[in-house]
Amino acid sequence: MSSENIAFSELNLSQPVLNAISKIGYETPSPIQARAIPALLDGKDIVGLAQTGTGKTAAFALPLLSSIDTKSANTQVLVLAPTRELAIQVAEAFQSYASELNNFHVLPIYGGQDMRGQLRQLKRGAQVVVGTPGRVMDHLRRGSLDLSNLKAMVLDEADEMLRMGFIDDVTWIMEHTPENRQTALFSATMPKEIRRVANTYLRSPEEIKVARESTTGSNIEQAYWMVSGTNKLDALTRILEVEPFDGIIMFVRTKTATVELAEKLEARGYSAAAINGDMNQALRERTIERLKNKSLDILIATDVAARGIDVERVSHVINYDIPYDSEAYVHRIGRTGRAGRSGKAILFVAPREKRLLYSIEKATGQRIEAMKLPSGDTVSAARIDQFLQQITDVVNGEENLSFFDELLAKYSREHDLEPEAIATALAYLLQKNRPLQVKFAEIKPERERSRDRGERGERPRRNNNRGPEEGMKRYRIEVGRNHGARPGDIVGAIANEAGLKGRSIGQIKLFDSFATLDLPEDLAPAQTKKIASLHVRGQQLSLSEDRGPMRKGGDKGKAKPRKRKPAHG
Ligand code: AMP
Repeated sequence: MSSENIAFSELNLSQPVLNAISKIGYETPSPIQARAIPALLDGKDIVGLAQTGTGKTAAFALPLLSSIDTKSANTQVLVLAPTRELAIQVAEAFQSYASELNNFHVLPIYGGQDMRGQLRQLKRGAQVVVGTPGRVMDHLRRGSLDLSNLKAMVLDEADEMLRMGFIDDVTWIMEHTPENRQTALFSATMPKEIRRVANTYLRSPEEIKVARESTTGSNIEQAYWMVSGTNKLDALTRILEVEPFDGIIMFVRTKTATVELAEKLEARGYSAAAINGDMNQALRERTIERLKNKSLDILIATDVAARGIDVERVSHVINYDIPYDSEAYVHRIGRTGRAGRSGKAILFVAPREKRLLYSIEKATGQRIEAMKLPSGDTVSAARIDQFLQQITDVVNGEENLSFFDELLAKYSREHDLEPEAIATALAYLLQKNRPLQVKFAEIKPERERSRDRGERGERPRRNNNRGPEEGMKRYRIEVGRNHGARPGDIVGAIANEAGLKGRSIGQIKLFDSFATLDLPEDLAPAQTKKIASLHVRGQQLSLSEDRGPMRKGGDKGKAKPRKRKPAHG
């Protein structure tokens, strides 16, 4: 079965799951989804050869969620993942695919997390538990995790679990689950130990491997940028400033993202439009026509919408989101380098998608060169060139400038100023909104930042008088040292129950009767409400905005936030 001609609606997923997918904006199933979903809905065991970025999480989460019984709080699905990051990510994916299901609970459990919180939540019940093998074993031994009603089990990134030495734990856990459970094993590679697990513990599994297409034209220059330190949108606009382009097709994963990115680029002065499967054929054709006749320079598309687009002036394809597989990659970049022209393909790769990059290189037999983001100096040079070119164009152009001639001649006489001095002042005025001398703040790559925070995601101790980091806001919670609270308890409770990533929880400072903590400034009201209602060490957090030096005697509170330096020189 090919993913090209199947829709999510044809896959027998439950209605709430379909509604959630359409809310998220997925257009069509990815190749692995098109094959894994029907098999899992059929009750079959599967072995999926797939890596991060292929859509493998949804490939198992969507069908398993479709058969969850939310009337019961029993654990019905167990996912084992090698790392806490992956466990959290998978739990978050389940949460979003279950957004239209009532009474659904998913619980990530991993080492290093407060045990008491976990025990309490397990007692409350979660239909889906996503855990690292060690911690899942702990709970099974303690009897705090009951798998007697388990319907399905997923081994995610099985080869990673093997590499990290968890494979015996994994098989131990499997032996402690009902024999009639359904099992899905996902692995990027198939070492023989994993093959053995599949042969021993799975019932005639269907093997799902997605075919790869492997031809790219040699007239297309390919580069990738490893996402780090700068967000993708800023990186993109930096690239657009220095890349000489004519027409561009950018690829994202979802329909929603096409619209969002088009709006953001338009706000930044580019002529951009979205094209996606929600648009009818006529509208799509009209948009492509606009790209052809230059009333539009940038098209932001999903794979489906861009299939077969043939516009000669497309000088660049930018893969803003990495495609699922090399086949999609080849289709995408084939939108440039048309009619014998040369083209350039740029690919954004998040660190966790590295493997997908390697597999694209392998399948196409071509190396994709790493690129650096243009520096401030490069962007400045490009802006200066454009600026000078504009002057040349006006001087050589046909525009009648006599009004300005007279105006400035008069001004020069009256103020006794040389024409150069006036020109300098005008140039300064002109570039105020778009400086010619650009400096970018040096941001440490996320990898280094998390290394600084240590293994368990704690932030380093900092000068107490420092304000929250950029993008964060300081809050106060009503649990402190006297209640026996530790930063780990607070991070654990918030990460688990308010659906925040551990690493988005900033500095925590414990005082005797309360604590301050930094959280992202764009928290949703529902999240702050949820956090306010949580309990740590028996104390309700009652989250409130930190109002600075203690209201009543005792510890000192917040320091003045630092003033943000503008990014431009
Ligand atoms: P995964 O391979 O599970 O790590 O997924 C990679 C990314 O693809 C995630 O950001 C998903 O949200 C996204 N994704 C998964 N399935 C689809 C789909 N059918 N359409 C668009 N995006 C998807």
